[in-house]
Amino acid sequence: MLDELERTLFDEERIRTRIADMGRQIARDYREDKLLLIGVLKGAFIFLADLVRAISIPVGIDFVGVSSYGTHTKSTGVVRIVKDLDAPIAGNNVLVVEDIVDTGLTLSYLATLFRERGPKSLRICTFLDKPERREIPLAVDYVGFTIPNEFVVGYGLDYNGRYRNLPIVATLKPSVYSKS
Ligand code: 5GP
Repeated sequence: MLDELERTLFDEERIRTRIADMGRQIARDYREDKLLLIGVLKGAFIFLADLVRAISIPVGIDFVGVSSYGTHTKSTGVVRIVKDLDAPIAGNNVLVVEDIVDTGLTLSYLATLFRERGPKSLRICTFLDKPERREIPLAVDYVGFTIPNEFVVGYGLDYNGRYRNLPIVATLKPSVYSKS
């Protein structure tokens, strides 16, 4: 797997340090209030797992599953819920936790869907942000790292279902794409 990587963007130490900061900030911002984190599956599972352990206040956790890229590296703009939340979110302070915001279509769809359910507040937290690729305006409240327009894998992010378990964020060698 490692010989298929081209360049490391963020190593484990850098990721750990940044997430510790984000956790502290989120705990400060919600210290007076209850917080419900909603992880967007599958990509956000590793980020969410590390983020919650960096947040020192009590939190609730739920997940939503959306259909992802499949085998492509381009967004189709079509968002399909494959697993809805387990519980109602009315009256909760909701923080939607995503792996990466690219075009913004997935999160803008989810934010609209969740707002209709009457949360007390709704904010967005993403591990990575690619603002150059945005196709729809989206207010992102917490961003781990801003990255250029490059396809990355690792730390929950996949290509063709692989590389999610890489502990770093990296780009792939062009030869990996030409094989598939
Ligand atoms: P958006 O709807 O913002 O265009 O896309 C969000 C989803 O696209 C992410 O949750 C992720 O699944 C996928 N995606 C966008 N950019 C990348 C990338 O650089 N690498 C990977 N692995 N997935 C990406």
